[in-house]
Amino acid sequence: MEKLSDIGTVKALLERHGFRFSKALGQNFLVNPTVCPRMAEQCGAGPGVGVLEIGPGVGVLTRELAARAEKVAAVELDERLFPVLEETLAPFPNAKVIPGDVMKLDLRALLEREFPGMEAVVCANLPYYITSPVVMRLLEERLPVRAVTVMVQKEAAERLCAQPGTRACGAVSVAVRYYTEPEILFPVSRGSFLPAPNVDSAVIRLRVRQSPPVEAGDEAFFFRVVKAAFGQRRKTLGNALSSGLGVPKAALAPALERAGAAGLRAEQLSLEQFAALARALRETEGA
Ligand code: SAM
Repeated sequence: MEKLSDIGTVKALLERHGFRFSKALGQNFLVNPTVCPRMAEQCGAGPGVGVLEIGPGVGVLTRELAARAEKVAAVELDERLFPVLEETLAPFPNAKVIPGDVMKLDLRALLEREFPGMEAVVCANLPYYITSPVVMRLLEERLPVRAVTVMVQKEAAERLCAQPGTRACGAVSVAVRYYTEPEILFPVSRGSFLPAPNVDSAVIRLRVRQSPPVEAGDEAFFFRVVKAAFGQRRKTLGNALSSGLGVPKAALAPALERAGAAGLRAEQLSLEQFAALARALRETEGA
């Protein structure tokens, strides 16, 4: 079986199929022999586990996953890759390509249909143009997956895994921390891809929590507060929340005091403080 991490093999394969890379679809294929085995090892793939892959490309990661997992379901949008995948995945009857857009498919139904009686994990080298939307979709829908292990751009990795209360933290970091225990597993240099992108990458793993680590109260409101707080991150919370929630600043002051957040900026708040703030604001008129 030819090695799909070998750049010459991949070039020849793609040339034979008359394939041209699409920048718009975020097509940078992995050609580093160590990355896919490491991802497959660390994502939780194993007997009794179904792996949802997003964007299999030529199937380099898919093969590593299929060699370990019970089954792999790989969602691919670019139909030009289907004949390529038919060829490269032929030795793996437990790998199935699912045509479609990951942002549009009913993923809950897909998981139920493809992985009956199995635990599920997600493992993917994500197309960079939809990194955060895909990650947030997987988490917000509370899909029955144990962990999400994905390759993303280095800056996105730092943002997604940032601790609340640190400068790198944004609204998405708070959300990721609320739903999961995130960690950066290892860096991946730009030279590991064909074609090479302009930035380096990193593999992150988000272990999905069974229950939230804080008592947020009304969850939708909690996330509205977080988004408003980071909407104008240079401003103090009072100003950011006032314009984000459309409530006069004076009306917000008691809740900010109660949550110990008066005079602070969003990036200085811990997850617990955000939860306390959201609970206190819920009782504020107009918020
Ligand atoms: N897994 C392969 C690898 O590591 O070499 C390819 C990764 S490449 C960064 C991203 C893949 O996602 C491409 O195959 C691309 O066609 C596919 N893709 C892009 N947008 C997609 C979408 N909305 N839904 C499903 N797949 C998508």
